[in-house]
Amino acid sequence: MPRLDELHRRLAALQGLIATVPDPLILVGHDGLVREANPAAQTLFPTLRIGHPLSLGVRAPDILEAVEKAPAGDHPVHVEYRERTPTARAFDVRICSLPRVSDGGEEDAGVSLVFRDLTAARRLEQMRVDFVANVSHELRTPLASLVGFIETLEGPAREDAAARERFLAIMRAQAWRMTRLIDDLLSLSRIELREHIAPEAPVELQGVVSQMVDTLRPMAAERGVTIALAMPDAALTVRGDRDELLRVVENLVENAVKYGESGGRVEVILEGDGKEAVLAVRDHGPGIAHEHLPRLTERFYRVDATQSREKGGTGLGLAIVKHIVNRHRGRLAIESEPGRGATFRVILPAAEG
Ligand code: ADP
Repeated sequence: MPRLDELHRRLAALQGLIATVPDPLILVGHDGLVREANPAAQTLFPTLRIGHPLSLGVRAPDILEAVEKAPAGDHPVHVEYRERTPTARAFDVRICSLPRVSDGGEEDAGVSLVFRDLTAARRLEQMRVDFVANVSHELRTPLASLVGFIETLEGPAREDAAARERFLAIMRAQAWRMTRLIDDLLSLSRIELREHIAPEAPVELQGVVSQMVDTLRPMAAERGVTIALAMPDAALTVRGDRDELLRVVENLVENAVKYGESGGRVEVILEGDGKEAVLAVRDHGPGIAHEHLPRLTERFYRVDATQSREKGGTGLGLAIVKHIVNRHRGRLAIESEPGRGATFRVILPAAEG
């Protein structure tokens, strides 16, 4: 027989162990009274009390019924438990009778309830479903328009040279839109695959920023937007992936020009303090209402979907920026007031030495 103090020590250790389990655990006697409940269970069911009936703490008829009929040993039953407030959550509850304590055979070991939080898994599943639906929708629209124009060109507009010119231009734009969407999807998945591996090569930011700003100047000029560029003389170097950093500058400056067009001016400012390098892209357009700011980097999130599509947007630009910045162990900060333009700031750790 183990000694009494040894039993006490093991009991305390087991209680400590159960208390650290993040999933709610409850033990109920066959008399319906709660025998044990860990802190996670107390948090989920605030009215649950040890020694009181389970039904006073857990008001879920499915669970109570399953506890009453709990099968012994190897065949647990699973019940789903949902909470709507304060936030929607779903749990899988595994219920089974514990084996009787051996000697004498009289001791009732009770019924265990083990809760597994399904919320995160469900959310991921929902995101996957939404993503596929979004991609299909984004591709279907230009595709439907292409098919429509092909049919018109084969039929009613067969001999109409002017219409043909016009329709071909639209068809080309739609085909480009699908190409851009697929390119963006592929870059997003490539970046995500490598997100956990921080890039190591030293990259001088002045070169990256000025190269991309020079590339985008003609497109900005077409829209009547000037780009002002301010950079320090001393080289600002980060550990990075040059192509990915070019994409960041491209997406931010392109957005500032596209959406801030009415402001006529975009400022690109690069600064550094030895510890961090900060790239700020500022426009003087209509700005973005507060409620949208936290969601802008979600895939396909747009403040105004029609406007974004008209401007050739895929809804993926800022998602790509966010993932690249994450991969570089940096941060993206967005500030905006409606009517007062927007500032997108990328903060990257400076390369040591
Ligand atoms: P899109 O391809 O639609 O431009 P992004 O991911 O780059 O996708 O941007 C998401 C949304 O954020 C845009 O549709 C737009 O509504 C908003 N947005 C981005 N940049 C700006 C900006 N500088 N000013 C106002 N709105 C912006």
